[in-house]
Amino acid sequence: MKLLIKLEEPKDVFIVNNVYEFLNPENVYIPLNNLSLKEKSYFYKDSYLNDFIVSVSGSLAGIEEMLINGKKMKTIKVNNDFKETKEFRKVKPKIKTIQDLIQVLELNHLDTIKEKIMALPQIDHLIVSSFDEEIYEMNEFMCLGENYKEILKLIDDLKKLFSLDSSILAIKNTNAKGIKKVKSISGIYPDLKVMLTPDKYLMSYPVNLGDYLNIPLDNTLILTTNEIYEINEILKGKSISEKYVTISGNALKKSLIIKTKIGVSLKEVMHNFIKITTSDYVVYENGLLQGSKINEVDKVVITHNTRCIVINKKEEKEETPCINCGACMKICPVNINVKKCYEQNLMSHRCLGCGLCDYICPANLSLKAKVKGENYEETNN
Ligand code: SF4
Ligand code: SF4
Repeated sequence: MKLLIKLEEPKDVFIVNNVYEFLNPENVYIPLNNLSLKEKSYFYKDSYLNDFIVSVSGSLAGIEEMLINGKKMKTIKVNNDFKETKEFRKVKPKIKTIQDLIQVLELNHLDTIKEKIMALPQIDHLIVSSFDEEIYEMNEFMCLGENYKEILKLIDDLKKLFSLDSSILAIKNTNAKGIKKVKSISGIYPDLKVMLTPDKYLMSYPVNLGDYLNIPLDNTLILTTNEIYEINEILKGKSISEKYVTISGNALKKSLIIKTKIGVSLKEVMHNFIKITTSDYVVYENGLLQGSKINEVDKVVITHNTRCIVINKKEEKEETPCINCGACMKICPVNINVKKCYEQNLMSHRCLGCGLCDYICPANLSLKAKVKGENYEETNN
């Protein structure tokens, strides 16, 4: 394992330590793709269109071009009638085998979790990670804090279902509140190991986590607290139509964690909750390091993949010529020759998009964009 670093915490960001709910948006947006619609189309809550959940019930209000997971596309605008009308009443699924669980995950479009389970020929260990990736993010922290009782119970149930040798809940040693809550009830689950890990960037990457906890990865299922929470919801017969999103940054009076309907526009969320203190700001989707800058903020739709929105004061960082310090190559967790890629316009399929090269570069060069870029030749550097 490469030496992991601790990211510098922003001193000018204040994240409010509770969750604000935004469950009654005016409109939600669903990718249109090739769907044909009638003028008076009606949409039921919790139905799926193009693998995207319709999180409210309502009627067609038009077709609009929006940004879904960073891609511009035509979307169906559904005007919320606030009736939460569903086409079918969901029943609680009965899960007796791993196959049953896989089927339920598929029905609920939780493909990432399903694929994690299916990728392993055998599962002997379960690690549940409660780490947020980046400094401006607090979704996992909040999910564990709010749902720790259900999360611990489900980990215990999964241990029985998978007949596991061990189940581990990994918590950052800086998450004092989470540790206190979990320890207050962990005696009920004597088989569950609660393990504290250092607060270092990329600790949640499977290779780092497995290494630190000394658990072999080829038979270990690694899930996040949010994923456990989602499994728990579908086992209760609910749909995943809401999610935690952190909206933070030094251009805000206060940063918030919001539980919002999937499909809502960022513009509507910001209008209801966010006060920006400057007119000169930049917005990033899914983190300063791993995420990307958004130019058309009004078009962003919150999807199942949206974890955080960072709104920071614009800071002019002047790019200067490379000084050959070698820091980018030293820090890259997958040993890419970052400098060479940057200079020769090469991309590497091994790039994790972690952003550490940008973070460390004293010349303020945008290295990640080039190494991860799609328009360049591929290399093995
Ligand atoms: S963004 Fe890519 S190139 Fe840069 S440090 Fe991370 S893995 Fe390496
Ligand atoms: S970190 Fe920046 S300045 Fe240093 S070698 Fe890499 S590109 Fe050049």
